[in-house]
Amino acid sequence: MGEKHEESNQTMENLNVLQSTQAVIREALDKLGYPESVYELMKEPLRMLTVRIPVRMDDESVKIFTGFRAQHNDAVGPTKGGIRFHPDVTEDEVKALSIWMSLKSGIVDLPYGGGKGGIICDPREMSFRELERLSRGYVRAVSQIVGPSKDIPAPDVFTNSQIMAWMMDEYSRIKEFDSPGFITGKPLVLGGSHGRETATAKGVTICIREAAKKKGIELKGARVIIQGFGNAGSFLAKFMHDAGANVIGISDAYAALYDPNGLDIEYLLDRRDSFGTVTKLFKNTITNAELLESECDILVPAAIENQITAKNAHQIKADIIVEAANGPTTNEATKILTERGVLIVPDVLASAGGVTVSYFEWVQNNQGYYWSEEEVERKLEDILVKSFENVYQTAKSRKIDMRLAAYMVGVRKAAEASRFRGWV
Ligand code: NAD
Repeated sequence: MGEKHEESNQTMENLNVLQSTQAVIREALDKLGYPESVYELMKEPLRMLTVRIPVRMDDESVKIFTGFRAQHNDAVGPTKGGIRFHPDVTEDEVKALSIWMSLKSGIVDLPYGGGKGGIICDPREMSFRELERLSRGYVRAVSQIVGPSKDIPAPDVFTNSQIMAWMMDEYSRIKEFDSPGFITGKPLVLGGSHGRETATAKGVTICIREAAKKKGIELKGARVIIQGFGNAGSFLAKFMHDAGANVIGISDAYAALYDPNGLDIEYLLDRRDSFGTVTKLFKNTITNAELLESECDILVPAAIENQITAKNAHQIKADIIVEAANGPTTNEATKILTERGVLIVPDVLASAGGVTVSYFEWVQNNQGYYWSEEEVERKLEDILVKSFENVYQTAKSRKIDMRLAAYMVGVRKAAEASRFRGWV
């Protein structure tokens, strides 16, 4: 089975997100002039914990779940990154996600390294109490390596503020002191930050606006397709709609909706469930694959990895792709699209709004003084506009694609900090 896989992979595009990330990290470090030892340090997380979590299910049976926590590099500061609940979580995916978090923190200049967690499970098939037991079990399993000044988790795919609340409560009980700074993405009453829930979508919106300016596209009336209608995708649909853009396509895990005249976003937002599912209410649907290739000006993948590959890159009609999701476009597809003149705003820049406001939440928890929504938005805007320009100018001046430029900007801080600490 394993051998068969390897054989077919040689003739196919590499869809392993860890290996693809390592390839770009290597290129970025080479361009920056770092020695091989720095690549050796950066290519994998410093720490990777695999845990087995027994959970008593509602029918009294016990199910054992596998979870991970990866800490990529803590030379700059504590590691930080979300926890994903998904049936397709793999060790390599969690490792790649932790590396991307280091890059994001570097791009928006936060005092963090990257971390990430995941549990192989399908929360859509679990009850509320089963989810609570799983969330608490995960914290008990990883409690020794996480903490407000060690590694700070947050939400990701299929995890939300309720899950963060249970996790914070469990951690506080274990440590016997209130620890709001242990995790971000909490409800407001438990020390969450204004603007955290919408932060990723706000950041993507800022990147879309800046990219549209560069491409000379008027946002008002621009045709936008968004793949995924969860936390990132649904708020983005709202912000695009509010900005006067025409959202003509959205999707969830099951199907996609497309209407060249524009979708009724208010209605869709009202009817989506907490997992970002809405297409089940409609008969006239298309597939996710068809949606990606449909006519539009701006395409936003906001769901999962490996959606735009060498297979469909030639068929993509958009002028701008802004990656709200982590890892939606393969390296080969990035090359094809860049050659075709499509402006790609890569995930490590476009979706950095989430970790930026998570950082604000952590700062507020640490100082015990809380900011207004306007204050959060102003600070987020400043950081992302600056970061976008930095990556864009790096791409222009070096004559490289936006992904490589973002990796160069992102990896530099962790590499420098590791050198100053005398690690490499
Ligand atoms: P979510 O769980 O709220 O929503 C995920 C959406 O994707 C849902 O609409 C779901 O139906 C859809 N989906 C799941 N599997 C799919 C598939 N196979 N094909 C098509 N659609 C599918 O998750 P989210 O928080 O919105 O995250 C979406 C992406 O954005 C992820 O890649 C995540 O890592 C990234 N991201 C999220 C944040 C954040 O703060 N939420 C921050 C940075 C990056």
